[in-house]
Amino acid sequence: MRTNYIYIDVVDVALICGLDIKWDTIESDEVQARCPYCGDYKYRMYMSRKAENATFWCHNCGTGGNAVTLYADFNPGMKRLSTKQSFAELMHLPNVHSHEYSTGHTPSKMEHIRPVHERSQIYLEMLSLLPLEDKHYQNLRSRGLSDEMIRGNMYKSIPTSSKDRKRIISHLTSHFDLCNMPGFCTKEFQWQMACCQHSGFFIPVCDRYNQIQGLQIRLDEAPPKIVTYPDGRRVKKNGDRFRWFSTRGNFYQNGTGISSYIHIVGDQNCDTLRITEGPLKADVASYLSGGELFIGLTGVQNLKYLGEIVTQLNPKRILECIDMDVRCNPDVQRAQSKIQSICMPLCEEYRTFTWPPDQKGIDDWLLFEKLKRERGYFAA
Ligand SMILES: [Zn+2]
Repeated sequence: MRTNYIYIDVVDVALICGLDIKWDTIESDEVQARCPYCGDYKYRMYMSRKAENATFWCHNCGTGGNAVTLYADFNPGMKRLSTKQSFAELMHLPNVHSHEYSTGHTPSKMEHIRPVHERSQIYLEMLSLLPLEDKHYQNLRSRGLSDEMIRGNMYKSIPTSSKDRKRIISHLTSHFDLCNMPGFCTKEFQWQMACCQHSGFFIPVCDRYNQIQGLQIRLDEAPPKIVTYPDGRRVKKNGDRFRWFSTRGNFYQNGTGISSYIHIVGDQNCDTLRITEGPLKADVASYLSGGELFIGLTGVQNLKYLGEIVTQLNPKRILECIDMDVRCNPDVQRAQSKIQSICMPLCEEYRTFTWPPDQKGIDDWLLFEKLKRERGYFAA
């Protein structure tokens, strides 16, 4: 599927909305204005002219958004517009520049991957053969999940012993063909489970019919990675703790890669959809909020299916719940602005949801609030 994003110039829209612009900044990449949300008088609202990150941010009150938000709130007709209406009107205004971007996903060659109902069946069978070790159970409990949720969501420990893997493979191959299944490959004509050398647990990534699209892995220890700096220095850093159960590339014989599937959890009749990063985070946050509808991206950059999923779920309102500590990261900001340009035309109201920054993720914050209620905790 080819996905296009449309970025609308936020400065053009600020001019139409009659914002008080600091004129000596109009030619620069960051144009300053007085913020209409807080009425600051020091021109502390910064608007980015960069096409791939056409957003604004007020350093006084912390309000951020893009051209669609600004126009919805301060259009010259003084109408209260939904983000969908605002987007549609902006598309017809002659003085507003917009840029269309493509992800470059052309339907070049069909990926050979088993259909989702078959993957789901095989992964379910595999998970049913695996235990959940106590340290992984404790980890999930400490996130606030109940025993029923832990059992129901089928989190299971990675089989690090080759004896266990042999037993599982022999069971699976007697029932299924493991061809075109991410996570499996062959060695000397025998099927193998890959990605099992480090301990951790599997997290099912489900579609809206609760079928397992793929498995994410959470490693107990983030594996080290070597980063080489331009001056030739090599530094050992922590790598990613989360990865796919996937066997893409020439390294694996008869392996299969996985696509950036999005996890869906919670009540699909909710008119509000919350977007977070990480399937496990989505599970926890949905549970702690009493079953609200969440989607978990497997990385803020992995947006291939986002438009499709939002269209299917058709929410009225979208709340973007990205981790507080990464919002200042320029890569995350670019991804955030891409998420917004995909979602805004598809809903009536789009909001960036914030919570106190000492709680990293939406799941941490919901757990903190729950414990506070239960135990009468108060923040120091
Ligand atoms: Zn402000």
